[in-house]
Amino acid sequence: MSDKKEMTDEDCQSIFALPNLDTIFPYTFPNGHRIEGMPYGCRKCGKEMAEIKVEVIESARQLVLHIYAICFNCKSISVKTVRYSDDGTYHQGNRPGRWKPGKFVYSKKVIINKLRDFIFPILT
Ligand SMILES: [Zn+2]
Repeated sequence: MSDKKEMTDEDCQSIFALPNLDTIFPYTFPNGHRIEGMPYGCRKCGKEMAEIKVEVIESARQLVLHIYAICFNCKSISVKTVRYSDDGTYHQGNRPGRWKPGKFVYSKKVIINKLRDFIFPILT
């Protein structure tokens, strides 16, 4: 099954009318969890994307971004969706049913352990 379809001029115009990705970040949920930003390079050539447009769907506990990233170097556009939740996790994917999980907020315990690893070698 392929989800590829031809883009019309209207599709292109509506994508270009969307806000830029960097206008969304930093984003703070009502519970204080904060998304600082998102690194986004081209998967093919590794260069920074020329234009990253985003469609934003906001609810009380979730932020869903449909991202359209354009690389002038490869003359390509890549599309993906990222779902951020206010518990500090996110899921991203570019195909339905294939979500990759991740975290944008680390628990205090993880941060304390990292600090301990850093401080202990100095003290001992
Ligand atoms: Zn590229």
